[in-house]
Amino acid sequence: MSVADLPPLRETLTEHGLMAKKSFGQHFLLDLNVTRKIVRLGGIGEGDVVIEVGPGPGGLTRALLETGARVIAVEKDARFLPLLGELSDAADGRLDVVEADATTVDEAALLAARGLGPVAKIASNLPYNVGTPLLIKWLTGAFRPASMTLMFQKEVADRVAAEAGSDAYGRLGVISQAVCDARVVMDLPARAFTPPPKVASAVVQLVPLATPPAPALLSALEKVTAAAFGQRRKMLRSSLKSLGGAELCERAGIEPDARAETIDVDGFLRLAAAL
Ligand code: SAM
Repeated sequence: MSVADLPPLRETLTEHGLMAKKSFGQHFLLDLNVTRKIVRLGGIGEGDVVIEVGPGPGGLTRALLETGARVIAVEKDARFLPLLGELSDAADGRLDVVEADATTVDEAALLAARGLGPVAKIASNLPYNVGTPLLIKWLTGAFRPASMTLMFQKEVADRVAAEAGSDAYGRLGVISQAVCDARVVMDLPARAFTPPPKVASAVVQLVPLATPPAPALLSALEKVTAAAFGQRRKMLRSSLKSLGGAELCERAGIEPDARAETIDVDGFLRLAAAL
């Protein structure tokens, strides 16, 4: 049997007696037209190696496999392994399912163990409870994905892609955009998911910049943004006091009386470099 011949996702879930569990942040996409669109927007195709976090019933996994991509799917909920095993059997050796927690898994080791990598893309309808920590891991950790196509709660997606001066602009946006080009490429209403979450969702496409900051600069950026947005209503001379205050701002060519939300990503990188 090939992937195209598999029964519809809803039927597969019923056959395996599977229900969504809240503790695993499970909200499924059972419409393949939606998952195919996500994969298309992610620019994923034949020859790509993709790490998928949280395949669950496998809707996004099927769409990834349809493109000809090689997929390593990391799932924490062992209840889904038999179902995903069937999908793997239908995938001509292009799907490996790994039972693991994505927040601690070593992506480079997953690839190396299969003679793949180091280049791989990430695609995921993220479990909302760990979406932000996972993004920070991929932005600042040792494994740097070639691209990330990620479904978040709409509010988090807006923060990742927010511009300076907007209400959503903060630490997550600065760190994301210091490393990647980040865009919201698709909005999805809650009713697109089974069961529907309380809020709307959106897909963010992140592509690494040609020259991302070196690890030391990134770590300084994390310090500066934590202090600046920890007290976002205060002037930088005061919120950055423990890091050098007005003097640090002057070294970076930043107005010490400015507030964090008005400083663009480039300005924060200058502050980090001055630190
Ligand atoms: N990809 C499926 C879809 O679109 O229908 C499921 C998405 S659901 C929002 C999130 C999935 O991530 C679930 O399958 C859940 O069990 C899994 N998950 C939750 N926490 C995880 C973790 N720490 N590591 C790996 N998978 C996790």
